[in-house]
Amino acid sequence: MDDAMKRRDTACAVCGPIGTGASAFEKGGWPEQTVLLPAAVGALETICGWESGGRGEKLLRCAACGDHFQWTLSYEYLVGGTEDETTLARLSELEADRLRVRLGG
Ligand SMILES: [Zn+2]
Repeated sequence: MDDAMKRRDTACAVCGPIGTGASAFEKGGWPEQTVLLPAAVGALETICGWESGGRGEKLLRCAACGDHFQWTLSYEYLVGGTEDETTLARLSELEADRLRVRLGG
């Protein structure tokens, strides 16, 4: 089985809707500009990582197919409103291993 071919193309019922990744955006005071992550993200398991003060980085895993995702949260304070951005990216096994090591999980 070639992992490089397998990744980024999944018919998984759980994480398939996420595709290769997704991002969410929230701007304080501008709810109409808010973009949420797909609901499927809530079904992913957190393997390791951290979240603090509006920032974070986590390694997530789909329990159904075993694919890994990198979750990152960033926070920016701007005049006129704060901005929160959450991104999710599907990882190859190699990328997931590297992230796991970096996060100490
Ligand atoms: Zn999956």
